[in-house]
Amino acid sequence: MNVPAGVDPYVPGHGETTYSVQHYDLDLSYRVDGNHLDGEAVLHCVARDSLTSFSVDLHALRPTKVSVEGTRASRFRHSGDKLTIRPAHPVEDGQEFEVRIKYAGNPKPVPSKILGAAGWEELLDGVIVASQPHGAPSWFPCNDHPGDKATYSITVTVPSDYHVAVTGEHVTSHRSARSTTWYYEQKQPMATYLASVQIGHYDVATIDAEVPLTRVTPRPADEAGYEVAFGDQPKMLAYFSSVFGAYPFASYTCVITDDDLEIPLESQALSTFGRNFMVDDWEAIRLVAHELSHQWFGNAVTLGAWKDIWLHEGFACYAEWLWSQESGRDSAQERAAEHHARLAKLDQRLLLGDPGPDLMFDDRVYKRGALTLHALRAEVGDDAFFETLRSWVAAHSGGTVDTAMFVEHASATCGRDLTDLFGQWLFHTDLPALPVL
Ligand SMILES: [Zn+2]
Repeated sequence: MNVPAGVDPYVPGHGETTYSVQHYDLDLSYRVDGNHLDGEAVLHCVARDSLTSFSVDLHALRPTKVSVEGTRASRFRHSGDKLTIRPAHPVEDGQEFEVRIKYAGNPKPVPSKILGAAGWEELLDGVIVASQPHGAPSWFPCNDHPGDKATYSITVTVPSDYHVAVTGEHVTSHRSARSTTWYYEQKQPMATYLASVQIGHYDVATIDAEVPLTRVTPRPADEAGYEVAFGDQPKMLAYFSSVFGAYPFASYTCVITDDDLEIPLESQALSTFGRNFMVDDWEAIRLVAHELSHQWFGNAVTLGAWKDIWLHEGFACYAEWLWSQESGRDSAQERAAEHHARLAKLDQRLLLGDPGPDLMFDDRVYKRGALTLHALRAEVGDDAFFETLRSWVAAHSGGTVDTAMFVEHASATCGRDLTDLFGQWLFHTDLPALPVL
């Protein structure tokens, strides 16, 4: 059995195109003390080819039992981060099939020389899961590429004094003497890297907003710290809903870990920040806006290949500039001018439309990506620009997209061919002149 090369050259070895997962059923039991995970995953799949064998991604955890369609697999082998499964009976092209995998071990982040480590990570007292882009196999067996979105049922059992937040809607919890089982459902398609579990000793409160906004904060409470950095989230939700279209999920959860975190991270309908972000500082507040805006750009509308990362980060960075103006700080034009001037002093050898895995999270992708949207806005005017963003989300929420689709969409919405404008920003390295509204 050969190990497949993977689907996306930015994240080599991950994912397969010979089948899709439509739903993940994950039943996890976790011991915080000792970092031990017992899991059972049921993957509801559809074959895209006839299969005598196929693989799922799984890192560091040991599969103990594998069945396909209720019958034990005739063979399974876990080598590197690939679990290759040979079902007892071949799967026909187009057939729906169910894969059940029992597994256990000490979860740890998935390392990568180029991308760094991502995935399940122990905190001083608890866990965060930050999987972008390659960390999902650190906690569940999956077809790990962003083009394979699925729905999820996630059950997590932990000692009763811990709170569990999961990317999905909380359905119920069952508490026994020592442990509590938390049930969550994610009914909207979600990329593997956007699935997350957060475990810790937290205070939890739900705030009225555009959708229910759950704040999950460390103990002891720091109300003042929360308010200065995160207090405007209901207003951000209302504003972004007005310019990007209705918030795409049923709720939003904001987790603030007791540990400091270098960077915050978006997952589906949930974002995670460190305690160090509870400060009255634009550098923190802009990231609160940034992560929230990813719910539209990245989570509802998701890239199909990582080379199109500007469709997430450029848009989220532009959302920061929009919020800056909306909240009475510098205007989007002032932010654009500031960052254009900074970018102009940097090495321009970065192709925004295909930056390469080593530069995919480079700050130039974020800022040049935001300037690309500012250039579109300057070219077509506010009405056509915001209509382009709203109809983009409306047309592709729940799905995956690429850059060519956005250029086509913007051209169609604005009634003019915008290929050249985008070409200058995305497929040439020279920095175009500052766009002016
Ligand atoms: Zn981002």
